[in-house]
Amino acid sequence: MNTQILEKKVDSSKKILKELVEHSSTLQLERLDVPGYEQVVKVTDSKAGLQAIIAIHDTTLGPALGGIRIQPYATFKDALQDALRLSQGMTYKSAVTDVGFGGGKSVIIADPKKQKTPEMLQAFGRAVDALVGRYICAEDVGCTVDDVKIVHSTTKYVVGLPFSQSSGDPGPFTAWGTFRGIQASLKKIFGSDSLEGRTIAIQGLGNVGMNLADFCFWAGAKLLLSDIDRVKLEKTAAKYGAKIVAPEEILFQECDILAPCALGAILNDQTIPKLRCKGVAGSANNQLLKDEHANLMQARGILYAPDFVINAGGLLNVSAELAEEGYIPAHPRQKTHRIYDTLIAIYEIAERNRESTHSAALALADYRIKYGIGKRVTPPTFHTVDL
Ligand code: NAD
Repeated sequence: MNTQILEKKVDSSKKILKELVEHSSTLQLERLDVPGYEQVVKVTDSKAGLQAIIAIHDTTLGPALGGIRIQPYATFKDALQDALRLSQGMTYKSAVTDVGFGGGKSVIIADPKKQKTPEMLQAFGRAVDALVGRYICAEDVGCTVDDVKIVHSTTKYVVGLPFSQSSGDPGPFTAWGTFRGIQASLKKIFGSDSLEGRTIAIQGLGNVGMNLADFCFWAGAKLLLSDIDRVKLEKTAAKYGAKIVAPEEILFQECDILAPCALGAILNDQTIPKLRCKGVAGSANNQLLKDEHANLMQARGILYAPDFVINAGGLLNVSAELAEEGYIPAHPRQKTHRIYDTLIAIYEIAERNRESTHSAALALADYRIKYGIGKRVTPPTFHTVDL
């Protein structure tokens, strides 16, 4: 990685592809022209059973950073749509969070339980490597810390690794940021950010939801929990004396805060009219099916914590791995704590402008990108490369 790469917003992808072909006979990268995106690449490797998309949305503030999602998409179009939407979300998240990175995301079209193989992940790593640092990957849904370790065997452009110099699982940081977001939402709704006696409904008890349940419990909240994994759900509910709610009912529970920590697109025409919460503040990416659904939330008087702001703790943590001084957990902890302040500011701006909180957050991100606020001045340092 050198400074030149940071300066060149759009790299010569043709040269990259040519170099790649020289290195591998089966790995193929095909550039897809998508308006509004800097670079979108279709990746295939027939020998490794790999079909993937790497989407780089915007690198104005720094190299694109974003996770690898492994999912058995029904069609290539579905996978492309997801990659595009997620990478755009990463641009906004990075801009608002002030990490000096841009937005990117990749999707591998495969069932993570049945089709994921080391060969597939290594081939994917070679594709990432061919982009020479314009895209830095990490774990995401369907892709574990161990998986990114395998990807790292063929490229250094990986974060969230299980090494001593690395940040590991971003889940706990994302959960803490989400907890701080819940506090900020309570402050805006009730004038107090205390969770004591408040009812919090959590959808999904994965890496984020499980830690969030723990933080909320210790802060005095009453918990309503749901997960499609019945065993995990019962065990967790017993631990916290929480009420078990069926997956199809969790969104519509009467509660103070609904925290979606599982799926995207859960806020839509069908669900929003039936919500019985005062605020929605959870970690899931792309919670709104469409941007317009933020207006519907506003019209219903339900405070929505923009997902790309509240769930930035994981990004703050993995990006701290690339600091010149090495990974120092206290640094992302401090910044994750301040998600509270960012949300309070966004809520105030939204109220003043009579706009949705989502639109206020987007305006803040756009403003920072337009004026290059928080643009990276030194290239990221890949400390794990020599391990
Ligand atoms: P995960 O895969 O570890 O957990 C998701 C959980 O949701 C699983 O326990 C799963 O069984 C459950 N689930 C799936 N469908 C459900 C349903 N219909 N109802 C109830 N539960 C259901 O994922 P995670 O890492 O905890 O991330 C949760 C969400 O937060 C995802 O949308 C992810 O994109 C987002 N996010 C995560 C991070 C992170 O650091 N892990 C960072 C930013 C955003």
